[in-house]
Amino acid sequence: MARIGPRMAPDFAIDQDWENYSADQHAVWRLLFERQQKLLVGRACAEYLGGLDALGVAAAGIPDFRRLSDILDRTTGWRIVAVPGLVPDAVFFAHLARRRFPSTCFIRRRDQLDYLEEPDVFHDICGHVPLLMNPIFADYLQAYGAGGLKAEGLGHLERLARLYWYTVEFGLIATPAGLRIYGSGILSSSGESVYCLDDPRPNRIAFDLRRVMRTRYRIDRFQDTYFVINDFEQLFAATRPDFAPIYREVAALPDIEANQRLDKDRQAVYATPAGEKKWAVAELGPSLGRKRLEDVR
Ligand code: FE
Repeated sequence: MARIGPRMAPDFAIDQDWENYSADQHAVWRLLFERQQKLLVGRACAEYLGGLDALGVAAAGIPDFRRLSDILDRTTGWRIVAVPGLVPDAVFFAHLARRRFPSTCFIRRRDQLDYLEEPDVFHDICGHVPLLMNPIFADYLQAYGAGGLKAEGLGHLERLARLYWYTVEFGLIATPAGLRIYGSGILSSSGESVYCLDDPRPNRIAFDLRRVMRTRYRIDRFQDTYFVINDFEQLFAATRPDFAPIYREVAALPDIEANQRLDKDRQAVYATPAGEKKWAVAELGPSLGRKRLEDVR
């Protein structure tokens, strides 16, 4: 976590100091942005691509949070708050519960283009913020913030954190056009944007709240398991019930390893426009998979 400067407010809010990004920092943004633009058409969900477009987040450079916040605020009542890095859980949840998205300001270095364990401004702004233009997702993230404050009091933060991980950061969505990405951790990663949809190895399991709460995750590599929702309404409805009894129920069951498969897992299924049901697993043979990877380079 960054040093606490003299101007740091108790909610960790700082100034983005947009005027002081260097030309090179803007150039790193452009590299990342252009690379993801090529990849994400046909991979990211429509809600994400629509939000990105409406916000006018562009290849031009690192956006000024004040400008984005004004557009977001008019649409769903969210604002972006600049913070120095990861903030304490309670601070993070309190921001979300007030429809404020805490975003880091720094941008990764050129030698970190492909992988970063920590969020940077590209991940936060390009990965998370466009989805906040969607009214249902906007409500979900606010409810998550309130749920975080509650989970902390109940001592079940880890189970709630898994929900965040497997939805907000690494969620997939089965649309009539096929499997798409809505998880921000994937959307800001060029390698995982391809891997999560095309690689035959990871599990793609139909979303199940208790299954998610029991599943461990890895932060140092591409995911072994993705959970697939059908739409944001389903996610919002599934997380609406009081979690207190669910936490107790789940606490009595063993954890599930990130790469484990259970007999009762339902592989995600989606319907094509023709009404045909398809398994949301990579049906590509290895050669076709490789070709797809080459196409996007
Ligand atoms: Fe994130």
